[in-house]
Amino acid sequence: MLFGLLLVAACGSRTRQERPEFVSATAVRPASYAGKTPRFKALLYYSDYVEEAHQQFAHQSVEFFHKLTTGEGWILDVSKTLEGDLSGYDVIIMPNVSPSSPEERKLFEEYMENGGGWLGFHAAAYNDQSTHWDWFRNFLGGVRFLCNTWPPQPGLVDIETHDHDVTRNLPDAYVAPSTEFYQWQPDPRSNPSVKVLASLSPKNFPMGLKDVVFGGDFPIVWTNTDYRMVYINMGHGDECFSDATQNLLFVNALRWVVSCSPRGNPFER
Ligand code: ZN
Repeated sequence: MLFGLLLVAACGSRTRQERPEFVSATAVRPASYAGKTPRFKALLYYSDYVEEAHQQFAHQSVEFFHKLTTGEGWILDVSKTLEGDLSGYDVIIMPNVSPSSPEERKLFEEYMENGGGWLGFHAAAYNDQSTHWDWFRNFLGGVRFLCNTWPPQPGLVDIETHDHDVTRNLPDAYVAPSTEFYQWQPDPRSNPSVKVLASLSPKNFPMGLKDVVFGGDFPIVWTNTDYRMVYINMGHGDECFSDATQNLLFVNALRWVVSCSPRGNPFER
């Protein structure tokens, strides 16, 4: 306590002449970093031909991930189409849709089957009987959309394991900002290749005012270990980036997918 008081006093009494010179961010970087090329390259693929709340999340995700490129540590390309050679991307981020045309689906399949990385949010995983894309359903862990909570609302989230880089530094539970929660069938957990990282806490049930979910297993963040991917349920509306814990989850997921690149971990170069 005494030390703290002295420190405050010292800061408060510092004169103009005693202030240290400010140094540029470049000057304090480790020498080994200076002049290196960006560590990795990401493509954010989204659509505006979706409901407004999913547009909002996509636009905010562009802003969120773009901010993380500050200092040119990595490259973020943003596109509403998938075309050309995707192999140069360490990860493709899909905040609100998955590909719908045969050409784009084929490109994405080839990209993922050859070691690509995926970070998908919310409606990017939506698929039902009318989607007719078996590969994608298997890629997600074999699941289809079952039901949702409505209206969007906050929810208590249980972090299921800390034995994973996506969740290692997260609390046991946190309250996610308002979003729409999807439930899936079959349960993603029934697939031995799926590792569930977070789920909606049973303490929330019954949840919803219009569309009410009364119970059941409710995984909301998982990885299909057959691929380099993470799916995150959040992504409805304009509040999803308002919570530091959840933002950390998003950054962790991006970092982990990229770190598993077959080209090597770019954070260790
Ligand atoms: Zn939604």
